[in-house]
Order: sequence, then structure tokens, then C-alpha cells
Amino acid sequence: MSLSFDPDRLDLPRGHFIGGQYLPANGVMPMHRPSDAREYAACPVAPAEMVDQAVSVAKSTLAASGWATCPPRDRTRVLHRWADLIEAEAVTLARLEAFCSTRPVGQLIDGDIAVSAEQIRFFAEFADKQGSDLVPTGAASLGMIMSEPYGVVGAITPWNVPLSMAAWKLGPALAAGNAVVLKPSELTPYSTLFLAELSVRAGLPAGLINIVLGDGPTTGAAITGHPDIAKISFTGSTGAGSAIMQNIALTGIKPMTLELGGKSPQLVFADADLDLSANAIATSILSNAGQACVAGSRLIVEESVAEQVIAAIIARMKAVKAGPTWDETSSYSPIISQRQRARIDHLVQSSIAQGAECLTGGQAMDHAGHFYAPTLLSGVSQSSPAVQEEIFGPVLTVQTFREEDEAIALSDHPTYGLAAGLFTRDLSRALRLTQRLQAGTIWVNRYSRSRDHILPTGGYKQSGIGKDLGRDAYLANRKTKSVLINL
Ligand code: NAD
Repeated sequence: MSLSFDPDRLDLPRGHFIGGQYLPANGVMPMHRPSDAREYAACPVAPAEMVDQAVSVAKSTLAASGWATCPPRDRTRVLHRWADLIEAEAVTLARLEAFCSTRPVGQLIDGDIAVSAEQIRFFAEFADKQGSDLVPTGAASLGMIMSEPYGVVGAITPWNVPLSMAAWKLGPALAAGNAVVLKPSELTPYSTLFLAELSVRAGLPAGLINIVLGDGPTTGAAITGHPDIAKISFTGSTGAGSAIMQNIALTGIKPMTLELGGKSPQLVFADADLDLSANAIATSILSNAGQACVAGSRLIVEESVAEQVIAAIIARMKAVKAGPTWDETSSYSPIISQRQRARIDHLVQSSIAQGAECLTGGQAMDHAGHFYAPTLLSGVSQSSPAVQEEIFGPVLTVQTFREEDEAIALSDHPTYGLAAGLFTRDLSRALRLTQRLQAGTIWVNRYSRSRDHILPTGGYKQSGIGKDLGRDAYLANRKTKSVLINL
């Protein structure tokens, strides 16, 4: 069956999803399809009262359903049924995801959707395997560390991989016994709405997942400042993360997990498998047109092999097949908006004005949608905007080094520390440098996530606080209570 579809004939979920029902609302924010720049709808903005309603439904559903206190295997079973349904409805999900995002429909079934279902299964299995602890306190007393869910968790997600980001938040929060109020990005809400609808069809109590639509300053702020939301889980830019921290400080302190921006380096040593390195680096910066938090956007390559690696990457950059996300044969993504494409171009042009040499790309593509040509900038200084700013587009900078220390110095970024890539055949060097690189994830001789969801993800420095995925994400959705009993 072809996955390609006509975007003008797609049936879209409409409205907020609260208590298992769609609540239609008038749209106020114009929405554009990045693939053809067409305005097609307007996104509602939930005011504080609507967020109140969602939180109140989440609280009462938690109490009435016994979700937090049921035998934990019951949670595991229903989450597995939800994952089954996600797989069964993969085509509908893929089309809803591709319709208004930058994700080509042909990459979704085996990619984002399969991975999201697997991640929900992964967290489902924690529900009955991770519990409270008895701890040594001496013969006259009994010490316990009891673990409990928070209650209602507030989640906020970005537009770049909407479905995966929702699964990252919902899987651990629900497995851990919480209810969730989630706000997807105002640019890409549909797959998240359908994901929530599927949870109810799978038997999850209606009202455990509530989706409110809206922007950051109104709806997002109402979530982060809500007194009955006990914990915040956010993925997005460092700027928005900072605004959220301020709002939480003003409205009442609560725990938060922040997954934020990045500017990740890729270090290639002359002893590396150069074909493998160039391929991994090109794939990383071309995937989703560089609109990925972990995009490896700074190539730092040993001088003696730079020419060879750069030539291989340019060949890959020139071979991309841009096309609308609803065409199954498209493999190169558009940029999410006209504004974001203009920002990318501004950063490229200002870097060129400051001395960078553009080896390929450096301009918008001739296309109906917001496409930007894969771009490679060499001759950049450490202060170049292209090296310093998170561009969130298909722009790779190249810097060269002669000594290991020089490579480490170039790789260090004053603000970000999300991920880093290291390509070398020298095991001692690999182990040495993984200790020195300042990043929350380090990939050696690869540059991509695997399906080992046990590995947590999260940033050093201003790339974030706390982790998604892994055991850490489950534990971050439980609070602990110390109990000491005199015997
Ligand atoms: P963004 O920060 O503009 O928006 C993210 C979400 O936050 C959206 O839902 C938005 O409406 C909401 N928001 C914005 N301001 C808010 C506020 N003051 N209060 C509450 N909510 C607010 O980010 P984006 O443009 O959607 O996504 C791109 C960014 O996300 C990049 O910086 C990227 O690196 C980051 N990201 C990080 C990870 C990670 O795991 N570290 C993963 C994906 C994306």
C-alpha cells in the first residue's frame, strides 16, 4: 500500500482532547504546511480555564480509576495494548505526523512510530519492576525509601519529532502511575491528539491523558504555573526552558525535567573509518534537515583527512531528494516555517560575512515549500555565528585540528552540551576522550540513537536538566519518601 496521500483530503482531529473527548475550539494561530507553505487551519489557544479543566479531569480520573494504586502489572498490560494499537494504526499516525510537520511519511512507519511504540513497551515493563527499598538503619529500626507517583504531570513538546517527543513524555509518566496534561507544539498537534485517542481505545482510563492545544506564553505558562500540576517535563529550546524556570520560580516550586537545545560536535581522527564517519555525519545533519536537538552540526576533523571527509559529505548533500512530506519518495525535509528558514539563512549569511567559506548550499531551494539547501561552511572561527548558535537547520561547519587537545578545545561549547560524536579506531583514545567531552550523550563510531531505550538522554550545561528515556525517566516520574520505624 502506498503511504503517499493528498493533504487536502486528510481527516484531522479537531480541538482539545480532554476526558477522552474532543472539545472543539476556535482556532486563532494560523497554521502553515511546511511542504507547500499553504495556510490550512488555525490552532486554538487554550486559556488558563481550559488548562484548569484538563487538570481537574486528570486529577479526578486518577482518583476514580485507581491508576496510581492498582496492581502495577495492570498498568503494564494496558500500556502494551496501547503500543499494539499504535502499531496497528501506523499508517493513519504516519499521515497525521507527516501532514504538517517536517517528517517525510516514508520514514515514519519503521522509524518514529515503531520506536514510539517500543518506548511505551519499554516503560510499561518498569511498572512492576522498580519499587521501594528497605535500607540498612541498624537493628532497632526499619528504614524504607517509598516510591510514589507525583499525581498530574505537565508535559510540553516541540514540533521537530512530535510523536516521538509525546511518547517520551507519556510512556514513563503513565507507567509510573501518573496522569498527564500535555501541550504539543502549536505547529504540529495532530499525531499527539490521535495518540491520546488511541490510548482510550486501548483501555487506558479516559482522562489520564489530556491534550490541550495552544502557544507557550498562554497555554504553556498555564501548565507550568498550575498549582495542581506536580511535575513538569519539557522538551524545547533553551530560551523557553529558561522562561519555564522563571514561571515555576514565580508560581510555586516544583520538579522539572528540561530537554533543551544543542550544538553538537563530531570529532574525526585520521585513523577512523573515513567512509563510515562521513556517512554518519552527513546522515545526522541531513536527517529532518538538521532540525534535531542532537544534530551533529560542527565537524571537527584532523587536518590530514579533512579534504577526503568533506568531499564525501558534500556528495551526500548534493544528492538529497527534497519533496513534500506526504510523498512517500521524498527523503529530504522542509524547514518548519518561513520564519525559521529566514533565520537559518541569516545565520549562514552573517557567518559568510565574518569570513566563512560556503562549500555547498547557502540558500533556499527552488521549491514551493520552505526547503533550504544542505550547507557546508568551512574557514569558520570559534566565534562565528554558525559555530555558536543552534541553527536548527541543514548547516554543518568544518574546523580542522592537528592535536587531540586542540580537538577537545574546539569541541567545547560555552552554552550547550547535548551530544558529541567521536570517530577513531584507537580504543585508548576513544575511552580517554569520552571522559573529556562535555556532553550528555557520546556516540563513538556512529552518530545516531539506537533502539536501546535503556540509555538515558539529556544535556550537560544549558542543554538541560534531568533525563528522558532510560531508567532515569521512569524514576523522574516518581517521588520518594523516607520512612523510619522504631522497632
Ligand atoms: P520551543 O522552545 O519554541 O517550543 C517547544 C514547546 O514549548 C512548544 O510546545 C511551545 O509552545 C512551548 N513553549 C514555548 N515557550 C513556552 C513558555 N514560555 N512556557 C511554556 N511552554 C512554552 O522549541 P521548538 O522550536 O518547538 O523546538 C526546537 C527546540 O527544541 C530546539 O532548541 C531543540 O534543540 C529542542 N529540542 C530538544 C530535544 C532534547 O531532547 N534535548 C529534543 C527535541 C527538540
